[in-house]
Amino acid sequence: MTLTLSRPDLLRHESFLNNEWVRSGRTFAVTNPATGEVLADVPDCGEEEARAAVDCAQRAYQAWRRVVARDRAALLRRWHQRILDNQEDLARLISLEQGKPLAESRGEVAYGASYVEWFAEEAKRAYGDVIPQQHNGRRLLTVREPVGVVAAITPWNFPMAMIARKIAPAIAAGCAVVAKPAEDTPLTSLALVKLLQEAGAPAGLVNMLTTSRARASVLADVWLADSRVRKISFTGSTAVGKHLARESAPTLKKLSLELGGNAPFIVFDDADLHAAVDGLMVAKFRNAGQTCICPNRVYVQRGIHDAFVAALSERVRQLKVGPASNAASQIGPLINLRALEKVQEHVADAVLQGASIAVGGKVFESQEAPGGHFYAPTVLTGVTAAMRMSCEETFGPVVPVTAFDGEQEAVALANDTPYGLAAYVYTRDIGRAWELGEAIEAGMVAVNDGVLSTEIAPFGGIKESGYGREGSRYGLEEYMHIKYLCHGNL
Ligand code: NAD
Repeated sequence: MTLTLSRPDLLRHESFLNNEWVRSGRTFAVTNPATGEVLADVPDCGEEEARAAVDCAQRAYQAWRRVVARDRAALLRRWHQRILDNQEDLARLISLEQGKPLAESRGEVAYGASYVEWFAEEAKRAYGDVIPQQHNGRRLLTVREPVGVVAAITPWNFPMAMIARKIAPAIAAGCAVVAKPAEDTPLTSLALVKLLQEAGAPAGLVNMLTTSRARASVLADVWLADSRVRKISFTGSTAVGKHLARESAPTLKKLSLELGGNAPFIVFDDADLHAAVDGLMVAKFRNAGQTCICPNRVYVQRGIHDAFVAALSERVRQLKVGPASNAASQIGPLINLRALEKVQEHVADAVLQGASIAVGGKVFESQEAPGGHFYAPTVLTGVTAAMRMSCEETFGPVVPVTAFDGEQEAVALANDTPYGLAAYVYTRDIGRAWELGEAIEAGMVAVNDGVLSTEIAPFGGIKESGYGREGSRYGLEEYMHIKYLCHGNL
């Protein structure tokens, strides 16, 4: 199967500024991680484009903030429809530049589109309050207003969903956007703004600038320093998130930071073993383990440990690794060589410190895609807290298993991390389920479920996984501030 587009014009080679497609002197190559093939050369934008984008967005914002909610919602609905009309091409673009199997890319398009539809609806529900008065004749009100120009910076692991769940609420709220997609995966984002342009977005409402990794900070520094940029919405690593928080302090921007995770997955003796294995398979191996809510530490109670590892290993052995061009592939390549090397280092470190390999544990050589950055799906046992993979995100198809004895121990292990994004618990004890849900330090806890993400619920973390929420009604609030109006007696 070749991943060709029915609409080749959705594969863009330019950045998008003020509703125009712009080239620049410098470019960088976007490649297919399964094959190394160059897909496009896109502009390596810098200071000049970054400043121009804020100028355009500021102008667009002044008009857009006055557009009534019904009309903002209508633009989002038209965009949503165009995304659905072109969903197969978008899925192919995701697979081409990011590497995930086509079935997963189709899932990501549906997931990303669901945020656009959701915020089209929420745009109409940004209610304020009437506060009961304490003095006759006074009227106290609150109204919600858009924060202004928003800078959105996204990672490569969900090239469509990450952009959609930032731009849609910003448009819904009445903001304008300057955005920078990840250097590995800018093509889906460019196709998305092409569809937004076709949906009738006014000039400057959303500007999408591409940069190489080396120049990401050149662009971001302009936005950080510009006081007209009132909010930064960032998804990516904790290190870059902290940098953005520090550098936006001088202009006190509002921040949403969706950062790294180190999710625990806890299985108690009383759990439904097969449901727990199913849950782990879907939570861990989606996107070859490259999601921020992937279980990164698996704690299994001693009584069920061996049976669980046996059942899990059996399932993991059956996973098909390969490029997205093969419809049977379930595990695609890692995004780049740096990512592959990190997984190799984590496994080597664990084995050196005494972990055992139950399945996998090595680079996967694909006959179909010899240049790809594939890693064999892996299960390790005897993993301890001192190993690198317990402390840092491995971001690959590796399940590290640790045995535990009691509930208190499980909670202590789960919370023994600076991160706090997602957590998973499998138990049939209802009291324990509630207790763990409250005791675990994470922004999201799934009990007897391996799938957390949905546009209708708040997605986000605590501790060094960041702050702010995406999706749900809370996701709109991130792009608005509350104004209090006090009307005296005339
Ligand atoms: P990254 O932080 O290296 O890059 C993310 C984005 O930031 C990219 O667009 C990159 O170009 C840009 N960037 C890099 N340096 C910058 C700088 N100095 N100033 C401004 N922008 C800069 O992260 P990554 O490795 O591409 O993505 C993986 C990380 O993202 C993981 O830690 C993962 O957990 C996290 N993530 C979190 C969520 C969430 O919702 N919490 C979702 C997906 C991914």
